[in-house]
Amino acid sequence: MTALPKLIFELSREGKIGCGLNEADVPAEAVIDASFRRTGISDFPEVSEVEIVRHYMALARLNYSVDAGFYPLGSCTMKYNPKINEKLAAADELQAHPYAPHDLVQGNLEIMARLEEWLVALTGLAGFTLTPAAGAHGEFTGMLIIRKYLQEKGDARKVVLIPDSAHGTNPASAHFAGYEIREIPSNAQGIIGIEELRAHLKPDVAALMMTNPNTLGIFESNISAIAEALHANGSLLYMDGANLNALLGIVRPGDLGVDVMHINLHKTFATPHGGGGPGSGPVGVAAHLLPFLPVPRIKKSKDRYEVVYDDPCSIGRVKNFYGQFLVMVRALAYLLALGRENVRRVAEDAVLNANYLRKRLEGSLDLPYPASSLHEVVFSDKDLPVKTLDIAKRLLDYGIHPFTIYFPLIVHGAMMIEPTETESKETLDEFVSVMGTILREARENPELLRQAPVQTPVRRLDETLAARKPVLKWSRGESI
Ligand SMILES: *Cc1c(COP(=O)(O)O)cnc(C)c1O
Repeated sequence: MTALPKLIFELSREGKIGCGLNEADVPAEAVIDASFRRTGISDFPEVSEVEIVRHYMALARLNYSVDAGFYPLGSCTMKYNPKINEKLAAADELQAHPYAPHDLVQGNLEIMARLEEWLVALTGLAGFTLTPAAGAHGEFTGMLIIRKYLQEKGDARKVVLIPDSAHGTNPASAHFAGYEIREIPSNAQGIIGIEELRAHLKPDVAALMMTNPNTLGIFESNISAIAEALHANGSLLYMDGANLNALLGIVRPGDLGVDVMHINLHKTFATPHGGGGPGSGPVGVAAHLLPFLPVPRIKKSKDRYEVVYDDPCSIGRVKNFYGQFLVMVRALAYLLALGRENVRRVAEDAVLNANYLRKRLEGSLDLPYPASSLHEVVFSDKDLPVKTLDIAKRLLDYGIHPFTIYFPLIVHGAMMIEPTETESKETLDEFVSVMGTILREARENPELLRQAPVQTPVRRLDETLAARKPVLKWSRGESI
């Protein structure tokens, strides 16, 4: 079992010094007025350089990341992101003040304009705003665009339809944009049936929000018929394309009748994510919605990029300045490195890997929706002697990050596995073999799984409490 590293206070011995400071050449009193200086600071740890380095290395090793191992977190696309993108995002030439005169940052503006062109080409939509800072922020922006578009037409529709397989952020975003949510059940194939839709398609429906591929990893194959039915009713189709790994370079949502969609650059387009780091959720729209996109818009006139703030129909600003610029740099670098021809291989390999895992595991785990899978596959814990949580916790003992659990809600004890395109067959085989071992343990010694994890520095935590009341600093006398 890995032990928790010792607290730095426990390592402390009076008189140890970890760094050398030069003698100050000015008296301290001359620099900082006494009223600003703290006194009586005690309990400062005193350690050597070796000890402090080892201490932080030990802490860092407690982290799990996609650079450390397999991370099959369904719906999240935790894939390997090429390090070259990080290098480019850190390039001095790209760091600019947001108020820099536009003449001095033509290169930065070009990066944004070219990324927008790429997204337009990949989705078949007419234009994108790059400003939203996350997927959910993109959804909210998209719903405001829909609302403004309908309002301009004098149409005050109140309802947004959302299938029960939707990502959890969808109802929240539509609600914050002022809509009432009506849920549509998905059918036995795990998708939205055209009859279910028609039954809910009343004149007060502003839009349907559809995650595609949905959270079961299944392609919504009725999408074009659904778009037609919506449009005939004066309603719009919003597609949650946060996770575009299965469609990239193969299907253009604009061709399927989608009016608005968002994409997560921090999932599909090579920005590492997790832990609340910067994200970016560009929103794309069909031509009739272009005037409503948020400002600023970057437009090219002759050979110069202009920044337009005064689009009369725009919903306004959704973020300060331009959005998360360095996430956009990573996305463009990723796309340029792949090139137009290779982009679709991302999708092909992501789908291949998910289907490989599905085939190898479907004999041992219940597969509630047998429709073919795209980039992820969802099993249930039906007929197992233990629960999904126990399996997930036991995976930690084998050094593997668990898959997404208990989501989507329509699957009992859901295990949502998304291997992504960047994993090798060897890694997938190793995962299958660990799953085989765990399922054997579940039959022979279910109690072991209920106690898991047993190898990790901390065991089963109260996860709700840990999220709601995180303890982020330690004081003497507290135990951890
Ligand atoms: C991740 C995700 C979102 C939300 O994106 P955030 O950047 O976390 O706000 C929305 N929809 C789907 C399908 C997702 O996978």
